[in-house]
Amino acid sequence: MATPITAAAFVQALEKEGVTVEEVRDWRNHNRNGQGPWGPVHGIMIHHTATSGAKETVDLIYDGRSQLPGPLAHGCVTKDGTVHLTGHGRANHAGSGDDDVLRAVIAERTTPAPNQQNTDGNRYFYGFECENLGDGKDPWPDEQLDAIERAAAALCRHHGWGARSVIGHLEWTDQKVDPRGFTMDELRKRIAARLK
Ligand SMILES: [Zn+2]
Repeated sequence: MATPITAAAFVQALEKEGVTVEEVRDWRNHNRNGQGPWGPVHGIMIHHTATSGAKETVDLIYDGRSQLPGPLAHGCVTKDGTVHLTGHGRANHAGSGDDDVLRAVIAERTTPAPNQQNTDGNRYFYGFECENLGDGKDPWPDEQLDAIERAAAALCRHHGWGARSVIGHLEWTDQKVDPRGFTMDELRKRIAARLK
């Protein structure tokens, strides 16, 4: 059980991990806290945006879309490896997922294949949306993968979590395929090495 990181500590933790941080508009006060609970936090979820173009992508993650108001993540990782902070508090990124997965994340065990939509993920997970078309062809530049690794590691370090606390959206629900183009096991291996 962990209390969500403060905005100031989030920026500090990212910078300490070597992340290039860009603070977007009023991100410190931008959230969906009026729509449901936020915290305790148990993990970090990685997504792809299915978009291209840094500016359009960051604006979409901050503002959201008509049926899904922003923020759509806490941070948006663009292809150049910048982490744009887009929200602080509850964010519309994880949606419903499997409580068996949540229990595994909390215990830092290998997660089971998700097959239920019975748990509010926006309450329990930090989210990073990563600029990529998600078509399996759009490349993931080294700078971007490095930033995803560092951003996730920064939160793990803050909370005393291991790499098993980091999952992909596709590991939360069988309704999603993101992120596509690298495997979460590869990413967790990198995060674990960084946390040593
Ligand atoms: Zn997603």
